[in-house]
Amino acid sequence: MLHDIAPRTGAAFTVDKGQRLTVIDPQGGQVADLLAFNRSDMAEVLSSGRTLDYASRIYLTTGDPLYSNRSNVMLRIVEDMVGRHDFLLTPCSADTFRILYGDDQPHRGCFGNLAAALEPYGVTPDAIPVAFNCFMNVPVNGETGTFTVEPPLSRAGDHIVFEAEQDLVIGLTACSAPLSNGGSFKPIAYRID
Ligand SMILES: [Zn+2]
Repeated sequence: MLHDIAPRTGAAFTVDKGQRLTVIDPQGGQVADLLAFNRSDMAEVLSSGRTLDYASRIYLTTGDPLYSNRSNVMLRIVEDMVGRHDFLLTPCSADTFRILYGDDQPHRGCFGNLAAALEPYGVTPDAIPVAFNCFMNVPVNGETGTFTVEPPLSRAGDHIVFEAEQDLVIGLTACSAPLSNGGSFKPIAYRID
């Protein structure tokens, strides 16, 4: 069954160990921020730092594991039609829009959407880490470390598939940041098999 996440919103749901989560970009050019928490101990959470350290790469794709703060594999990428995702940057937030965009009345962003969706699972905002940003395109200059946020490379219907290696609570958004999504806000879809 296909679930939809409306533009600039988020969702939280459970995925059991061994199940597959497919994140789909129905229209193309849209980012989805993904978080994972261990359902039996919600203090165990997805870790960008651990994952990138063990991968010795900042771009992850098919075959790569996503580790927790306790160095357990939470998810593994088992299929990837796009090959460019970000795991460096935090979920966009009201502060992102205030500081980077100069908005006076900023949207709550992926951070606020994730915090609201995950609240019923006992997650507090301070427990939200760097998300795995599906389809987010952040090229980095290897000499200077300078990066830019470019439109996603995903085309309509492209997807990435994760296999759960723990019983998880997942947070997932249709990203709210203009720069990340080529200037327009589109839905995200997902499926659990
Ligand atoms: Zn976002």
